Amino acid sequence: MSIAEAASAPLVSLHTHTDLSHCAKPEMTIDAAVALAVEHGYRVLGFSDHVHIAEVTDRPAHAQRLRQYRSHRDEADWPIQVLIGGEFEVKAKGVMVECDEILEVCEYTVVAPNHYHLDWVECVGRTCAEVAAHELDCFETALDWPYTDIIAHPYVGKLREPEHEPNAMWKATDKGRIRALIEMAKEGGVAMEIQPALWYHPERAGRVAELIDLWLDGGALVSLGSDAHALASLQTWAERYGEIVERFDLSAEKMWLPPNVS
Ligand SMILES: [Zn+2]
Ligand SMILES: [Zn+2]
Repeated sequence: MSIAEAASAPLVSLHTHTDLSHCAKPEMTIDAAVALAVEHGYRVLGFSDHVHIAEVTDRPAHAQRLRQYRSHRDEADWPIQVLIGGEFEVKAKGVMVECDEILEVCEYTVVAPNHYHLDWVECVGRTCAEVAAHELDCFETALDWPYTDIIAHPYVGKLREPEHEPNAMWKATDKGRIRALIEMAKEGGVAMEIQPALWYHPERAGRVAELIDLWLDGGALVSLGSDAHALASLQTWAERYGEIVERFDLSAEKMWLPPNVS
């Protein structure tokens, strides 16, 4: 990334997993991730470990680990800003996977509208248009939840049918309804995420960039998140960040950022 780009859009990942998430690599400790981020010029690293249903996430243990992360961060005096949050998920239209004990410890939240690969997450619809309408129902569920800061990986959840690929779903989407959702997002200050599954696979998901364009044109915020589950992904994100900044003409004002970062 050039110096000019770095000045206009700070290098951040507001969606990062540690080994507290079952799907992350054991190497992905908070210390190792922060060290890599410092080395690669990150300004902010936001940790958002998965908060699943109570049968899967040991909630008291999870909350305790987040408290430890926060006190470790406060003592560490790292040269970059580190936020401790969580990746919550939509369970079905109008239903969130909630946990007050964890929410209390989180400094911000990322909400996944489309974890369709998980048994407890509902995926409805047979045609692309039906599945896309359900995806928007889940965006709306996230926008209605008062704690949502960022909507994660739009259209690039793991779909159950191969024909429901992101580009096809976007094509089948009711764009008028997107405009209504943008108004809700502006009101609540909720950002739409740009992340690797959207950006690295244009043949599969490139058209979803139009959603980001609409979001920005409508005056709502975007968020940049690597969704890294391994150290190498955090490095790749830093290397490819400039392409994203350039494509969407990003600057700090267009991005969801914690206070004191510009
Ligand atoms: Zn996710
Ligand atoms: Zn994630």
